[in-house]
Amino acid sequence: MNARKELKEIFFETKRLISACEEMGLEPPMLPKGALEFMEKPVLKKPAPPSTQSENRGNVGSEIPAPGTQAIEPSSPQFDSLEDLRTHMGDCRRCDLHNGRKQMVFGEGNPEARLIFVGEGPGVDEDREGRPFVGKSGQLLTRIIENGMGLTRDMVYICNVVKCHPPGNRDPNPDEIKVCLPFLKAQLSIIKPDVICALGRVACQALMEGDFKITRDRGKWRTYHGIPLMPTFHPAYLLRNAAAKRPVWDDVKSIMNKLGLEVTQNG
Ligand code: SF4
Repeated sequence: MNARKELKEIFFETKRLISACEEMGLEPPMLPKGALEFMEKPVLKKPAPPSTQSENRGNVGSEIPAPGTQAIEPSSPQFDSLEDLRTHMGDCRRCDLHNGRKQMVFGEGNPEARLIFVGEGPGVDEDREGRPFVGKSGQLLTRIIENGMGLTRDMVYICNVVKCHPPGNRDPNPDEIKVCLPFLKAQLSIIKPDVICALGRVACQALMEGDFKITRDRGKWRTYHGIPLMPTFHPAYLLRNAAAKRPVWDDVKSIMNKLGLEVTQNG
C-alpha cells in the first residue's frame, strides 16, 4: 500500500471514529493540532498547480466586465481572491436580471475546494437567502454531498452561472449568461478546482463548447480549460425524475474516483 493510500485510509477511519463518538455523545479522542487541521480540510488542500497546468487552463478570469458596463473586457484585472472579485462586482447591474432579484447570490464554500458544483442560477429560496442551493433541490444536493460523498458543503464550493434569480424561474437567456459568465470563470480561475461538476443543461452548455445534450452527454468526462468537468443532471430534475438518481450516483462515484476519495455508501 502506498503512503497516500495508507494516509487516506487512516483519515477515513479516524473520521468514522469521531463521528461515532459524536453520535454516542462521547468526547472524540484528543488529536494533535496538525492532525485536527488535516481532518478539517482533507479534501480542500491541494498542491500548487504546476505551471503547465495553469497554462493549459488558460486565462479564464480575463473576461470580467468592468463595473457599470456590459462590455467584456479582455484586459480587465485578474483577481487574487473571491473577496476581490465580489468587491469588483459590487451592486451588479450589468444585465437585466438585476431588475427582479432581491439580492445577488455570489456562491459559497471553500475557496480552496477541489470540487465545485455549478448550477444555472438562483431560485426563489436562494434569492431570498442570498445563498446557492438552499431550496428543495439544494437540500438534495446537500444530501448528495454529505450522504453520498461523505463530505460537507463547506468542503466544496457551490455557485451558479448567473448570480441573480431569473424571474419565474425561467432559464437565463443567452445575453444574461454571456454577461455574467465571466464572473463564474473568474471564480473557477481563483479556486482552481480539481473537478467541476456542472449541474444541468444550462450550466453544462455554458461551460462547454460545441454540441451538448444533457440526456446524451451526462456522465461523460469533459474538460474546462484543462479541469476535468463532469456533466450531470440538476438536482431539480432528480426531484421530478426518481429514475435519474441512479445515473447521478454513477456520476458521483466517478467524481469521487477522480478526486481519489472513497465512496462512503452505495447510493
Ligand atoms: S446576473 Fe450576473 S451580470 Fe446580471 S446583474 Fe446579476 S451578477 Fe450582474
